[in-house]
Amino acid sequence: MKRIPWDQYFMAQSHLLAMRSTCTRLMVGATIVRDKRIIAGGYNGSVSGGVHCIDEGCYIIDGHCVRTIHAEANALLQCAKFGVPTDGAEIYVTHFPCLQCCKQIIQSGIKTVYYAKDYKNHPYALDLFKNAGVETRKVELTELLIDPNYQEKDAYIHHLLEELKRQTNDQEMYQALKTEAESLFRL
Ligand SMILES: [Zn+2]
Ligand SMILES: [Zn+2]
Repeated sequence: MKRIPWDQYFMAQSHLLAMRSTCTRLMVGATIVRDKRIIAGGYNGSVSGGVHCIDEGCYIIDGHCVRTIHAEANALLQCAKFGVPTDGAEIYVTHFPCLQCCKQIIQSGIKTVYYAKDYKNHPYALDLFKNAGVETRKVELTELLIDPNYQEKDAYIHHLLEELKRQTNDQEMYQALKTEAESLFRL
């Protein structure tokens, strides 16, 4: 039995949250963790009870959707709403935080930012994090945690590749397809 590492578990949670995003411009999820416990989560979306970008289209001003509260801010505000301290906590985000979120993360006392994807990593955000002593670490989701059929799919792809190998004389094509399958399915 293989246990899921903590960073993979929390990052998977952020990827799940991202799937709840209502702004179509970018699906982002954020999970705030303290002492290996999830204390809050958020995703890109409108204020509670408001219309959603997925229904009405984004409200764009100067190239930004002004309807959306970012995932990181939503997670922090959930802590504010319920009175949960964020000092010394960690945050797991699917995308590197924007400048506004960067400042809010620092100001809330969060000490480590784990992110899965680089996203317009602003040099000023990097400076701010560094000066505030906030560590940023890239954690890509390497386990296929959020697909309940991943083992069956891996086995199926293996089977297809074996069959292909048996039936084809085109080694070049077989190798190319095998390489692609390995990169997509982490076989
Ligand atoms: Zn939007
Ligand atoms: Zn942001």
